Amino acid sequence: MDIGIPVARSSMPPLEEYAAEIAPLWESRWLTNMGAEHRKLEGMLRERLGVESVELFANGHLALECALQALGFAEDGRDEVVTTPFTFASTTHAIVRSGLTPVFADVRPDDLTLDPEAVERAVTPRTCAILPVHVYGSLCDVDALQAVADRHDLKVVYDAAHAFGVERDGASAASFGDASMFSFHATKAFNTVEGGAVCFRDPEYGEALARLRNFGLAGPDDVRSVGGNAKMDELRAAMGVCNLRRFDGEVAKRAAVAARYRERLEGVPGLRLPCQPRPGVKPNHAYMPVLFDDAFGASRDEVLAALAAEGVGARRYFYPLTSAFPCYQGAYDPGETPVAEDAAAKVLALPMYADLAPGDVDLVCETVRGCAR
Ligand SMILES: *Cc1c(COP(=O)(O)O)cnc(C)c1O
Repeated sequence: MDIGIPVARSSMPPLEEYAAEIAPLWESRWLTNMGAEHRKLEGMLRERLGVESVELFANGHLALECALQALGFAEDGRDEVVTTPFTFASTTHAIVRSGLTPVFADVRPDDLTLDPEAVERAVTPRTCAILPVHVYGSLCDVDALQAVADRHDLKVVYDAAHAFGVERDGASAASFGDASMFSFHATKAFNTVEGGAVCFRDPEYGEALARLRNFGLAGPDDVRSVGGNAKMDELRAAMGVCNLRRFDGEVAKRAAVAARYRERLEGVPGLRLPCQPRPGVKPNHAYMPVLFDDAFGASRDEVLAALAAEGVGARRYFYPLTSAFPCYQGAYDPGETPVAEDAAAKVLALPMYADLAPGDVDLVCETVRGCAR
């Protein structure tokens, strides 16, 4: 099947490198439950992310559910989590599936991350936590969000699914808030096929988190909490070990792709690029989102159709807002977050991956510019 230019393409190590990494498993026959590859990847991630504690998970979504549940809010009666509706379904579902109530606050127009002032206004006596998203790998205003949390005694759990490798003044995205969830899904900048992780500081929290990942087990016959199964297996951990060795090279290739896009799209009237370089921030170039304002002369959906006709797989990422999903119908009013609602109507994620050829970037940009008035 020819899919033309896909929106994302997984980074993979050479087959021989992966084969060598998993070969010892045919001796040990230890395929899951925190084996040698699992421990190796955790160690590499601790070093890479500059954090003391990392727990691996089967995927980012279960990591986020466990990250919320390990905070133990059910016991203290507070149940509201202030969050953004401009995100992937996973963020909101993780809150609801943990027995908590999402309260949506608006995003900032420039980088589409959660607006700290809107968060402040959304806080009530029932609020227990803030769940911001480093959307497209753009770091939230972590200092202002932490200040709001400190004023109201709230926890901060970051959905850092997009932010692996992002740093501010040398501190990785994993170092902010009480906990950060990373997704290692095949389409993310760093992948373990499926996988995820939670980074945190408090060792007690880490114990609760590790139990939730493995049926609530604290020892062979000692079940302390109602946990599920969210363990990462050895084959996926080995994929992570191989991909992590190559990560910096992949980001460098993505940076060249991003620069080419910017050269060809910057300055087009009515076209906005929300992922802008920011002082002190090292980006990971995970995505290439574009917003089409009225001045562009064609709607987002017209551009999407023109790209599809050229075999280009752009995505309406993120549309609709999670607060507008049919499964939440009637519970929320997407109009209460007008900046997010506007972005969801105008945004398109263009193809972005390390191996995207310069000629393909040019075709995408020519097709986009051809839609302009
Ligand atoms: C990918 C993603 C997730 C979920 O991660 P999985 O590893 O696919 O379960 C959560 N939040 C956001 C914003 C994502 O993009």
